[in-house]
This record gives sequence, structure tokens and C-alpha cells, in this order.
Amino acid sequence: MSEELAKVNQLESFRDELDRLRAAQQEPADTVQNQPHTADYDLVVRGRRIMTTAGLAERELGISGGKIVAIEPLGSNLDGAETIVLAEDETLIPGLVDGHVHVNEPGRTEWEGFATATKAAAAGGITTILDMPLNSIPSTVTDPALEFKQLVARPQAFVDVGFWGGAVPGNLDDLRELHDSGVFGFKCFLLHSGVDEFPPLNADQLETYLERLRGFDALMIVHAEDSRAIDRAPSPEGDGYAKFLASRPRGAENLAIAEVLERTRWTGARTHILHLSSSDALPMLRSAKTDGLNLTVETCPHYLTLAAESIPPGATAFKCCPPIREASNREALWEGLLDGTIDYIASDHSPSTLDLKDLGNGDFAVAWGGIASVQLGISVVWTEARRRGIELAQVVDWMASRPADRLRLRDKGRLALGYDADMAVFAADDAFVVDAGRLHHRNPLTPYDQRALSGVVRRTFLRGSEVDYQTPGGRLIRRGLA
Ligand SMILES: [Zn+2]
Repeated sequence: MSEELAKVNQLESFRDELDRLRAAQQEPADTVQNQPHTADYDLVVRGRRIMTTAGLAERELGISGGKIVAIEPLGSNLDGAETIVLAEDETLIPGLVDGHVHVNEPGRTEWEGFATATKAAAAGGITTILDMPLNSIPSTVTDPALEFKQLVARPQAFVDVGFWGGAVPGNLDDLRELHDSGVFGFKCFLLHSGVDEFPPLNADQLETYLERLRGFDALMIVHAEDSRAIDRAPSPEGDGYAKFLASRPRGAENLAIAEVLERTRWTGARTHILHLSSSDALPMLRSAKTDGLNLTVETCPHYLTLAAESIPPGATAFKCCPPIREASNREALWEGLLDGTIDYIASDHSPSTLDLKDLGNGDFAVAWGGIASVQLGISVVWTEARRRGIELAQVVDWMASRPADRLRLRDKGRLALGYDADMAVFAADDAFVVDAGRLHHRNPLTPYDQRALSGVVRRTFLRGSEVDYQTPGGRLIRRGLA
């Protein structure tokens, strides 16, 4: 690690705090409880619409020790210490898996913290999040930084939380240790990340890092925008969205994605394109997948549901990078999702303080780029999907099963025997109007404010226990062990 990078990450100053947290937190004892009870299961859920791997069916689930241990036809009268009967309008879906959340704690907790982010996730039916390695200080680019973040997160997690490591110039030799500590893979940027303590790799460095990661089969996830193309694009200055859009052209994304694809091809590494926005890149992604590259792609609710043409002047709640593009681009992204070129959907929840969104002036050049939406993802996507005649099971596949598969979460993302009893009660035909001030995330801003959405998450269960928003029941998870 370079001296400069160590300095901006405050690698010396956080060590005292790390030691204090280590001393204060003992490893939690294994919390499987042996309460004497006579029922066959800790919890039984009955309903006409239970979304198992065999599709929607009338079922009863038996849950014990936090796991799904029985799936029987409705009417089997499974005997639970507690029983939940779904209402006629409710569907039981697997807890969603969000592979892309920026929590920002420690260091920028005023932007977002573990308690608020994980409560928001739970309220949106998400039971597992993976935290991004940047925007916190220190960023997660060394093993002690990971441990520090874990110690901060553990007592306040309302859902299960896993961590990404960061790949930045100077930390090539830190990757293996982070991997052995259970990170789910490594994130890199190909242009300035927005924060100085998390510098980008250039394409040749990317290749070197991919070669290293291939040695231990780790996944590289990439923010793919090309800095040379962005540098040459017009300035985003002012409150007009069109100008901002022109400053982050599709070409910048296309160029960076092409680079990632070729370096993936040359090294044989496993890569993942984060937050795909430019639909121009779909044909080359399709062709790379046909060639057998070990590559996956995500997109986000905002690219699938919003459009540049209707973003009001100065509405910086909509600013993110890469940007929300035209309606025609959005249509092409849906095609890419439906044909499997895009593998899954993640929120890219990336809030900041209201101050940094420059709400007074609404200057897109000044405002922080990031959209806050983790609590709303399933409703946002479902509202649009049902309009297009897409089934809820397909949406759940994009937001639970498929990310769980790519992230090698063996116990998550499905209602199936032996899986964690992570579940949400979803009322698909119910509706609500978003009130940003009533969402759980820390700063009351979202581009979906005042939008009417279909699909209400009524209850969320983590390993068989209902999330009560009082007692943090989430665990910190490691790659391959959850
Ligand atoms: Zn992000």
C-alpha cells in the first residue's frame, strides 16, 4: 500500500479504535437455542401463494433452527410453536439478496450507517446485503480495514451483511488476505471513484489484478466507465439533466466494458459488470457470454424504470453514475434482462447527506452521484414488470436466486429445503405512495418520492425470526459460508 493511499485511508488513526472495538466485542456465542417446546417446528407458515423452487403453490413451510426443514401441501397441518397464515392477497417470497449497497460506515456515517441501511433493506424484503468497499473511511482495501468495518457493523445489522474488498493501486498483495477473511470478491473502478481514498485501476493494472484473483478464484466486480472518454465529454455544469447525461456518454461505458471483456478473456478470470446503464453494450456482452467468458452483469431499478427525458431540472436525487439514460435505452435494458444477457438486479443504494446533493442549486456538476432506494427495489421493479406482463417469480429470480448463485450464497435466495428461512410477505396487488421522510435510510431523499408503487412488503423474516426493527438479528457472513 502506498504511503499516500495509507494516509487518505487514515490507516494509522483507525487502529486505536479497532483495538477498542476488538476488546469490547467478544465473538458471539452460537445462538441456537434449545428452548423446550413440544411442537414439531419453531415456525410454520401456511398460504395459498408460497413461492418455492417449484413455483407458486399452496404450501406449508416448517422452519426449525432458522432453516426451512419441511415443505408440504397446504392442509398437512404442520405443527409449529408459532404459526403464520398468509392473507389471501399475500405471497411468501424468498428474502431478496442485494449485492450492491454502499453503507458508508465507519467514516461517512452521516451519509448512511449499518443500522439505517439494514433496516431499510429489511423493510424492502431484502435479507442479505453486500457492502461496497468505498465511501467508508477507511475503505475496505486491507484486512484490518475489513475487520474494523465488521466490528462496527456487527452490533447494528438487521439483515445479514457480507463485504466486498477493494482493488486499488498498491494493494495487490492485500487481496489474498482479504479473500481469506471472507470477502465476496473485489471491486475496482476504471475512472475516479468519487472519493480520493479509492483510486481507480487502469486497464493494464486491471489485467494484473485479474491474473492475481484468478489464482484463488475470486470475483472482480467493475465500475465500467472510461476516464479518458469522460474527460473529453462536455462539462455537466448547471441544473439541466441533458447536460449531465452528455457528460457521461454511453461511449465511456461501452469502451470500459470492452476493456473488461477482453482482459477477462485474456486472463480467464471471473468478472462482473456493475450497474449496466448503456444498452449499446448488450451485443458485446451477449457475444462474450456466448464465447464462454465467466462474466455476469447487473443493472439497477433506476435504469429499468426512470428515463432521462422526464427528470426535472435540478432534481439531483436522480444523479448517479453511470447515468439514467433515455427511455429507448431503458426498453433495450429490459430486453437484455429478459434474454439473460443481464443476470440480475441490485440497488446500488448510495446515499449522501442532503447537503452534498446540492438541493438548493440543483447543480448536477456539484451534487453527489448516488441514488438511495434500497427499501423500494422490489416495489419499483415489480410495478414496472407487471405492466409488461412479467411474473413476480421472474422478478424474484432477478433479485434473490440469481444474485445468490453468482455470489455463491448457498443458503440464500430460495424457499427450499435446507435453505435459511429468509422470507418476505409480499402483497403484490397492494399499493402505496412513497414518502421519502418515512423510509428507514438515513437521509430522506430518493428519486421515487411521491411515486405510487405496486407491491407492499408487509413482513420480513431472517432465519425464521421476524425483523422487528428494534433488535438487530443480522449476522456478518463470509463467502462460501452462508
Ligand atoms: Zn455503487
